[in-house]
Formats: sequence, structure tokens, C-alpha cells
Amino acid sequence: MKPLGPIPLGFETIDGQLAVGGHTAIALAEQAGTTPLFVYSRAMLERRVADLRAAMPARLGINYAIKANPFAPVLQLMSGLVDGFDIASGGELAIAQAAGIDPARISFAGPGKRDTELEAAIAAGVTLNVESAGELRRAFAIGERLGVTPKLALRVNPDFELRGSGMKMGGGAKPFGIDQQEIPALATELIAAGAEWRGLHIFTGSQSLDTGAIIEAQANVLTLADQLAQAIGAAVPKLNMGGGFGVPYFANDTPVDLGAIGAALHERFADLPESLAETDLCIELGRYLVGEAGVYLTRILDRKVSHGETYLVTDGGLHHQLAASGNFGTVVRRNYPLAIANRFTAQPDEEVNVVGCLCTPLDRLADKAHLPRSDVGDIVAVFCAGAYGATASPSAFLGQGPAAEMLV
Ligand SMILES: *Cc1c(COP(=O)(O)O)cnc(C)c1O
Repeated sequence: MKPLGPIPLGFETIDGQLAVGGHTAIALAEQAGTTPLFVYSRAMLERRVADLRAAMPARLGINYAIKANPFAPVLQLMSGLVDGFDIASGGELAIAQAAGIDPARISFAGPGKRDTELEAAIAAGVTLNVESAGELRRAFAIGERLGVTPKLALRVNPDFELRGSGMKMGGGAKPFGIDQQEIPALATELIAAGAEWRGLHIFTGSQSLDTGAIIEAQANVLTLADQLAQAIGAAVPKLNMGGGFGVPYFANDTPVDLGAIGAALHERFADLPESLAETDLCIELGRYLVGEAGVYLTRILDRKVSHGETYLVTDGGLHHQLAASGNFGTVVRRNYPLAIANRFTAQPDEEVNVVGCLCTPLDRLADKAHLPRSDVGDIVAVFCAGAYGATASPSAFLGQGPAAEMLV
């Protein structure tokens, strides 16, 4: 037997079934008219942002990095909950604009921005988090050509990184941001060129469950921002402090301690250096805001035994939930939290492998999982599906096409 990850808090049970927003898994599949489908919980999204607000200093803005989940109804809901939005492509700009998000609330990071993307962002009044000297000069030229003053922040590649983070995006040689040593000269050039100076973006990593490491990275970010401001000789209007709060996916993972992170920030904010006294401070989170609020529902198509092992074959798989299959940034495959949705309260009484419908041995959703006895037609729930699921999986693979999505 292999353990399953922890099921996030906030899901409901109705008649022994998993339910979201007052609807059972079977009712949700009926409403969608199809499986597989992603279901996102409005109440859990609202709760997550409320918990963050309660723990963090009021002064700290919360941005949503939309690449985690750009589903339009989720963006519209988040629009009323968070302060700003981070995008990472011109496509995401179009998605955010279509969802009615004010471009003045959007900042645009990403190491390879086409001229057409820079143009669309500058014309709309989006803040660019500039990733290189070359990009800075392209932004100047495009602003001039359009007759629009570009709003420019510099993305810093800091010498430190977020310890224990799943994906390292700072420290040492990186394609992201501008080495911290080069920031003062480029900021001076930006201000002299007449662009609107929007400050600094310092992103240090992603998917960290190490509360101490997050506190340390945030302290280092504030110290570095102060040093840079002094070297630039100008105040920093805005400081995006990055994010990196992780979500527990696997057995023995423990959630980050929001209270401790908030308490440390309260202390730091009470004692900010003069260069940051007036600065608009924010963090940017993707996965932490949406990851646990989503569940992927997939129906069992077949039940078979091979050499003594039982396989539940579902109509979903890695083409929608690449991360759950263990093929997205993990070395050793471990089980995500998973359940038989329409037998949610039943006792586990058999060991099964849950696989997807793709003709590849990579398509696994759970190995040697201890689950209640289930049959063809039952619905499997894969939890922690709210972030980097639908849009971060190869849905065209094997001609499968996308899953349905619902916000309830
Ligand atoms: C991907 C990304 C995020 C979001 O990361 P999460 O781990 O989902 O919180 C935030 N900022 C930048 C710059 C990113 O590239």
C-alpha cells in the first residue's frame, strides 16, 4: 500500500458523496453533461483569500498569478477578492482583459516577451516587470512609437533563493530577471529615459512548505530592496515581494503557517527603512490561492485484474492532470490525495491502482491506493486540482481534448 496525499479542508459530504457548493459529485457530472471535469469551489477560494487577509498586514497587497488557473469564472471571482494580477504572456493579457480586469491592476513578467506582447501591454497600461537590459530598451522604443509612457518595474534576480522551494527561480545564473548588481544602472537609465518607474519585482521561488524559509526570503527581499533603492537614489513606488507559498500534495506534507508568516511581516513592516516607507508592497501567489479549491472528477470505465493487481481505468488522466501523474517536476512519483467521490464516506477495503485512459504507462493517478470497493460508473476525485491542472497538461495528447470546468 502507498499512502494518499491529504484531502484539503473545505469539501462537503452529502448522502455519503463528495460535494462542492451543495452539489454531489454525481450531480456535478450530470450538470456538466460529461466527465472528466474540474470543479472549483467558490467558497474555498473566498475562504483562502480571507484567511490570508486576516493573517497578513493590511498594507500587504495580494496579487493572483493567473497562470495557475485562468478559467474565466475563477478570474472574475478573484477580481473582487485580490488587489492585482500577474500575467506571463500576451495570451494571458487577452484572457485577463476578456474577464474585465482593469489593466492598471496587471503586471506582466516572463523572460521572453515578443514585441507584439510588449506593445499590447504598454498600450493597455499594464506594468511590465522587465527581465533584461534588451527588453528594457525594446520597451522604451515601443513606448516612443506608440506615444505612450511605459510603466516599467525591474525584475531582480537576487543572489539568494527561497530554500526548499519546488521550483527555483532566483539565485545564481537564471533566465529570469536581471542580476541584482545590474539593477541600479538600469533603474537610473529607466528613470532618465522618462518611463514611469514602477519599482521592483523580486520572485525567489515556488511551492515551498517551509515556513521558516518563506519568512527568511521575505526578510531578504526587503533588505535587498532597501539596498537597491539606496543605490538607485530613488524611492521604490512598488515592491512585488514574490510568493512561493506551497500546497500540501503528498502524505506527510504540512501546510505553511500563515500566522507565523503574517506575524513576521507585521514586525518587519513596523520597522521599514525610509526607502520603503511609502512603498506599495505586495505578494503574488498562484497555486496557494487556487490549488486546493479544485477537484478533478473522472469516471471509472473499466475494472480489471492483472497478475493479482486491480486496475481502475478512468476516462481522465495525465492529459488533464499531468502533475498528479507524477510527470510535472517530480523525481519520485507519489500519490496525490484521491477518493471515490460517490463513496466518499465508505471505509477503504481494497488496494487498487487508478490509471488514466491514455495508452502510455506514464498515465497513473494513484499507485497501490487503499480505497473503498468501486465499480465501473463510479467517479474518482483527484484533489489539489485547482492550480496547474487544466492549462498545464497536454490536453491534445492522444486526441483527448480538454476537460469540462465549473465554478460552483
Ligand atoms: C509562476 C509564477 C508565480 C506563481 O507561482 P505559484 O507557485 O503558483 O504561487 C508568481 N510569480 C511569478 C513571477 C511566476 O512566474
